[in-house]
Amino acid sequence: MASSRRRTLLKVIVLGDSGVGKTSLMNQYVNKKFRQQYKATIGADFVTKEVLIEDRLVTLQIWDTAGQERFQSLGVAFYRGADCCMLVYDVNAKRSFNALNTWHDEFLTQASPSDPKHFPFILLGNKIDIDAGNRRAIPEKKAKEWCVSKGNIPYFETSAKDDYNVDSAFLCIAKLALEHEHDQDIYFKTVAQPAPDTEHTSGCAC
Ligand code: GDP
Ligand code: MG
Repeated sequence: MASSRRRTLLKVIVLGDSGVGKTSLMNQYVNKKFRQQYKATIGADFVTKEVLIEDRLVTLQIWDTAGQERFQSLGVAFYRGADCCMLVYDVNAKRSFNALNTWHDEFLTQASPSDPKHFPFILLGNKIDIDAGNRRAIPEKKAKEWCVSKGNIPYFETSAKDDYNVDSAFLCIAKLALEHEHDQDIYFKTVAQPAPDTEHTSGCAC
């Protein structure tokens, strides 16, 4: 019981090429606002939002880049302690899709999570509102194939402009991060305390 309430802060990293809509998605999610123009740089490193997930109050600390993604030099503080990673591309811009491998690798290298194979990622194909989809460069199927190749990461098509699927995507990544944290807790408990009171290790199959 105590351990499930111990930590409710989740650090969410939003990554992807410049211009795909990362800041807009965050702003839509946290402030319910969309603007056509954003400054390339913003003041804060992160914004927070509280969500209720299965009776548990979770604070999402969402980290946005301040335009440095153009130089791929985000620094260790950005990645340190990340609980999950939201990758974003623009469905109308092929280059932003092709860059996903680099962002995925970059995250794993910089954040070096203890369990990279099961680390919670999510992919967002943003700007699906543009030209009613007529300018789309990446079919949904192709994006889903990429997700499967990376270990079945969830995929959402979004519009920060129309507020389409934005809440669902953030909720999904938050849930994944919580599950992952729980799995890791069980793992560490098992490693650190070889003989725990088995009656209290509910949900563990071992
Ligand atoms: P970032 O560099 O990834 O943070 O991208 P921004 O959030 O700054 O967005 C870049 C541009 O795309 C801005 O002009 C936004 O208004 C626009 N934009 C972002 N998301 C959407 C969307 O879902 N639909 C449309 N039509 N434009 C968007
Ligand atoms: Mg931005």
